[in-house]
Amino acid sequence: MASSVEPEFRGARRRLVEALQEKGIKDLAVLRAIDLVPRHLFVPSTVRHRAYEDSALPIGQGQTISQPYVHARALEQLMLTGRERVLEIGTGSAYQTALLGALAEQVFSVERHAALLDQARLLLAKANVRNVSVLLGDGTLGWREYAPYHAIIVSAGAPDLPPAFEAQLAEGGRLLIPLGSKDEQMLTLLIKRGDRLERRDIVPVRFVPLIGAGGWPA
Ligand code: SAH
Repeated sequence: MASSVEPEFRGARRRLVEALQEKGIKDLAVLRAIDLVPRHLFVPSTVRHRAYEDSALPIGQGQTISQPYVHARALEQLMLTGRERVLEIGTGSAYQTALLGALAEQVFSVERHAALLDQARLLLAKANVRNVSVLLGDGTLGWREYAPYHAIIVSAGAPDLPPAFEAQLAEGGRLLIPLGSKDEQMLTLLIKRGDRLERRDIVPVRFVPLIGAGGWPA
């Protein structure tokens, strides 16, 4: 990963990692990924000076890059060891995609906005992330070709669980999705145990809507 690019951001990134530890993030692999991935590359140049604040930022097309704390809380729930195949829905800025690249073996990421995906491709190459494949399309249908996935992470809020996600999740696999209304959701962890899903509420969140066949209408 190109964390040696622009070393002036190194200190700021380290302080962000410390701030996240103070807020209760314990997973060392997640903290290491945040220390490694140059978040400033993934935010628009107009807000680059704020790249290592623990806050959400606009990324264009009415979409936002989540607060680092939310990424960290979410990624902790996936308990990745580096050997997994992961599906991400909503590439957006591709920052979380790059974090997943550092935490798993292979990442498959689907985005419905062509402009965001074009930008994401460039940024992932610039950050030297090589174990990620991206697809333009409706992520509520998943990405069948590479299923089953050991983990699925959905970065936009859905009214209900799209059926494709359960179908494409491996046995014992972990699925994280914000479920609720357009204005507020519960980040929900679902673990596949045979033909049932064990369910845990993680933290209330506010994500942009998941738009598509298995989500909200456009
Ligand atoms: N993890 C990203 C989140 C971006 S916001 C980041 O931190 O930058 C959520 C993203 O989900 C947006 O880019 C939006 O375009 C995308 N999205 C919404 N519905 C989608 C769908 N059905 N399929 C794929 N992407 C979707």
